Amino acid sequence: MSENTKTAIVTGGARGIGAAVAKRLAEDGFAVGVLDIDEVACANTVEQIRAAGGRAITLGADVSNEEQVEEAVARCARELGAPVVLINNAGIIRDNPLFKMSTQEWDLVLSIHLKGSFLMTRAVQSHMTKSGWGRIINMSSISALGNKGQSNYAAAKAGIQGFTKTLAIELGKFGVTANCIAPGYIETDMLVQTADRMGISYDEFASKMVAETAVARMGQPEDIAAAVAFFARDDASFVTGQILYVAGGPYA
Ligand code: NDP
Repeated sequence: MSENTKTAIVTGGARGIGAAVAKRLAEDGFAVGVLDIDEVACANTVEQIRAAGGRAITLGADVSNEEQVEEAVARCARELGAPVVLINNAGIIRDNPLFKMSTQEWDLVLSIHLKGSFLMTRAVQSHMTKSGWGRIINMSSISALGNKGQSNYAAAKAGIQGFTKTLAIELGKFGVTANCIAPGYIETDMLVQTADRMGISYDEFASKMVAETAVARMGQPEDIAAAVAFFARDDASFVTGQILYVAGGPYA
């Protein structure tokens, strides 16, 4: 492995979109810190990366916990290399119509998506500015445009877009870009939970979503990983503060 290998951290990397992103970045030559709330759950992603000849370690942290975030980033820097790519991907849903939504559901979703992205970014930014090179890629959602039952999630995902644009402005002069991906319906465990919440089977849910999608198929985690790979490239250095809707149709 080259000494020049750059290191990336992918939050929520144990499964779903995060696992696909971690594997894609490793294929593209990055060493990857696979971070999740349950460090043991990251082993599968790390094993797959190593089996394919890549470098990766597991990292455990609740992204909304400042101390755990600082410790995980420091460990990544010690054991794998200074992180200069950050994918803020960890997330949860706690859907409910506004009149039923508890303060706890609101706080939890805002805290993991929005505060978590802030804490992770603040913890890695000095590694990026010191290197004079960095890539921050934040996971928003088409729900940022509004979605029934998701006032907490939509607010967090819209907040992430404003956060990203501000990072682009503040960090651009250090060679650091910040961009956002807003996925449409991507087949992961999160969508199974969405179908449950709607009280329909996953198959029924998926066929409705396919009917509403211009390219007439569900998104796959690898579709998002491909967009991440673009933003992480060296020659994407003039692309910053952008929101890319990867949703199989026209959104924005
Ligand atoms: P998954 O639920 O499949 O995976 C999310 C991962 O994040 C899980 O491994 C989860 O761990 C982890 N996680 C949850 N909370 C924390 C935390 N506090 N600290 C660290 N890790 C945590 O989700 P997806 O892969 O579907 O989604 C990934 C991202 O993409 C999310 O930000 C989501 O909002 C966004 N997105 C997804 C879409 C989709 O259709 N799937 C559409 C638009 C956006 P655990 O399993 O232990 O909870």
